[in-house]
Amino acid sequence: MSEENQSKKIVQPKLLRGMRDSVPDEQEVMQWVVSRTEEIANDYGYRRIETPILESTSLFNRGVGDGTDIVEKEMYSFEDRGGDNISLRPEFTAGLMRAYGQHGFISKPQPVKIWTHGPLFRYDRPQSGRYRQHSQLDFEAMGDPAPVLDAQLINIAYKLLSSFGLDIRVMVNSIGDRDSKTMYQGVLTEYYKAETNLLCEDCQRRLKINPLRLLDCKEEDCRDLSGKAPQMIDYLSEPSRLHFVSVLEYLDELEVPYELNHRIVRGLDYYSETTFEIFSTSDDERASQRALGGGGRYNYLAESLGIGDVPGVGFGLGLERIVLALKDAEIKPPESEVNVFVAQLGDESRRGALAVYERLLKAGYKPAEKFSKDSIKSQLEIADKLGVRYTIIIGQKEIHDGTVIIRDMDGGIQEEVDLDKIEVELAKRFEN
Ligand code: AMP
Repeated sequence: MSEENQSKKIVQPKLLRGMRDSVPDEQEVMQWVVSRTEEIANDYGYRRIETPILESTSLFNRGVGDGTDIVEKEMYSFEDRGGDNISLRPEFTAGLMRAYGQHGFISKPQPVKIWTHGPLFRYDRPQSGRYRQHSQLDFEAMGDPAPVLDAQLINIAYKLLSSFGLDIRVMVNSIGDRDSKTMYQGVLTEYYKAETNLLCEDCQRRLKINPLRLLDCKEEDCRDLSGKAPQMIDYLSEPSRLHFVSVLEYLDELEVPYELNHRIVRGLDYYSETTFEIFSTSDDERASQRALGGGGRYNYLAESLGIGDVPGVGFGLGLERIVLALKDAEIKPPESEVNVFVAQLGDESRRGALAVYERLLKAGYKPAEKFSKDSIKSQLEIADKLGVRYTIIIGQKEIHDGTVIIRDMDGGIQEEVDLDKIEVELAKRFEN
């Protein structure tokens, strides 16, 4: 290539690191997951809400907590043109609680049950199943401390994921109320302090700001230590213990299988009482360690935002991770039921075929076509692949005679019928 040409070569734009396109094949799966979520949200009285992707940075500093990985290292924060500090939301709950306060939801019957889905942004190290933009399906019940809500939400997440045919494991824990948490953090700090030299660098730092996080570190030495660490469950205050026992009893009642796991502490400051994470059981060890979702109670979040005493509980499920789990398990959405194909033989008949296609849609059929092709052979091959029962063939002659051909794809029998009567003629055949 000459130097001149080289300098003219235009570099194709590329995806940003950690971002991904979701192509139509994947969108079909996502759409399937989202519509099932909508159904289950309706079943349990959760109403759809949408909040903006951009919020003020202080919302997350105060709500999620300054010492958390999300706020400390992962937020996409910047100053907008007016000089305000804003961030792409890294999670849903803080923004939803802001909305609760803003719209006076406190004066509605409690709990306020809401759900949403959409993109979240975290500047994390990208890897399989971890992206800088991902989507979550999120459910929240705000304004009520009752343990039955915790159990009902765990049941919703479990039922939703199981309904796709995934094998689901639910891990639950309690990190207690403020008093229990403070006491336990003290005990934990003492325990880890004696072993500081064995801790990874991150954990040495976390020990000072958020000792609970040491329990879910994935480094081998840290994992060994956390396996032997004192357990939160032994430090719960009486109200917290009773709350947790009730949640477990309700789960038994709902026949949701669960495992107690003291490592499920969740990373964010706002969690209290029940915490849980949801996994799919998979042969692939790495995949089975990637949580499909998680959640818990957050009885002090509203207070930290100046909204008052509004206890809440909720969960978020990772849409991309659900899609990965479905792929691993070779689970696909049901085929769309295209049932009739419209074929044509060139320019003039294509015009007639366009009109026939519209009429079939109106009559409630799910037609398919390949109007850009002229060859009847290749159109019939496509119809065959789609598995339709009938193909309507429209040629020049038929256009002039005011007729069409209905081809039974099962035996190849073709019959000429009046153009005006396609709907009736098709209906007759579908009835048989
Ligand atoms: P979290 O808000 O961190 O509790 O995450 C809830 C769920 O969202 C996780 O269990 C994952 O399924 C999913 N998730 C969280 N972060 C990411 C990410 N960076 N990329 C893809 N999915 C994620």
